[in-house]
Amino acid sequence: MSLFDKFGRQITDLRISVTDRCNFRCVYCRSADPENHRNHDDILSWPELERLARIFVGLGIRKVRITGGEPLVRPGVEQYISYLSSLGVHDLSMTTNGHLLAERCDALLDAGLHRINISLDSLDPIKFEKITRTRSYDTVMRGIDAAQATRFAPVKVNGVLVRGFNEDEIEAFAAFARERALIMRFIEFMPLDADRHWSRELMVPAAEVYERIHAQWPLEQIPHEQSETARKYRFADGAPGEIGLIAPVTQAFCGHCSRIRLTADGKLRTCLFSKEDRDLRALLRADASDKEIVDWVRDVVNEKEEGHRINEPGFVPPSRTMVFIGG
Ligand code: SAM
Repeated sequence: MSLFDKFGRQITDLRISVTDRCNFRCVYCRSADPENHRNHDDILSWPELERLARIFVGLGIRKVRITGGEPLVRPGVEQYISYLSSLGVHDLSMTTNGHLLAERCDALLDAGLHRINISLDSLDPIKFEKITRTRSYDTVMRGIDAAQATRFAPVKVNGVLVRGFNEDEIEAFAAFARERALIMRFIEFMPLDADRHWSRELMVPAAEVYERIHAQWPLEQIPHEQSETARKYRFADGAPGEIGLIAPVTQAFCGHCSRIRLTADGKLRTCLFSKEDRDLRALLRADASDKEIVDWVRDVVNEKEEGHRINEPGFVPPSRTMVFIGG
């Protein structure tokens, strides 16, 4: 069975947020309020998440990314990954801030995780502290090193650039990719921050990042699949490492979008910027049969938005912010 929307796009990727809790409070993501998360009962239990994963895989989902909040703060995530692996998920990955990664890397590999993305927004410990509101720079670096020493290599490191905060580090990040032979990806700042500071001026367009790196180390484009979010580049001088540019704001890739998202509290979102959530948890907890869930999912996916409207007049950011959606 396969899932299609009314524009003929096949949905093969599911991002599952397993928690809305996070041990970081990045300025471009969540507010400084540490108590800002749902009660445990509101969050899908592991058995509920297992049932949904089985149903989604039956509907043709081939790529699953575990995210949050911070997925590694929820005990039991390795067992969930083992379960997903037993379902035969073709591409199983996780996005993490890296804080708990060094000691969990082997368990994640044993559980069957294929790939890992680590978020890192500064190579300067002081700036890192300002952005994440934690002092975890060294711990995250240890997490990156630990992952690079395993078959997770080359890891993807994701940085969000915010003008005035860290855009002066573009070349340093590229040098980091070359030195550590990893994939450095730059993500445009999106209007999903809890404090609603986003503005077009604060966003650093992918084209600017490209120009600056290309001026120092010429880049060559690497072919990519249409549904992939990143444009990928290698260094023309043959140095190791890779650059990825993710430009949801300036070069939207909605036309080939194959993604849907399940939030930690069981809402299905057909776009990062969906105006409303669809309540899958309510259905699940009302003892719906698998068939009823399948029919409901098909109906919701059918109505997936043609594209986000960030660049249209009157755009209103979703009420849910990134930490409650799952990036
Ligand atoms: N805690 C994990 C982490 O830090 O990677 C997973 C969740 S986090 C919400 C997922 C990704 O979303 C991170 O790479 C983060 O940088 C990104 N993100 C959060 N808010 C964003 C925003 N307003 N614009 C662009 N990316 C954002």
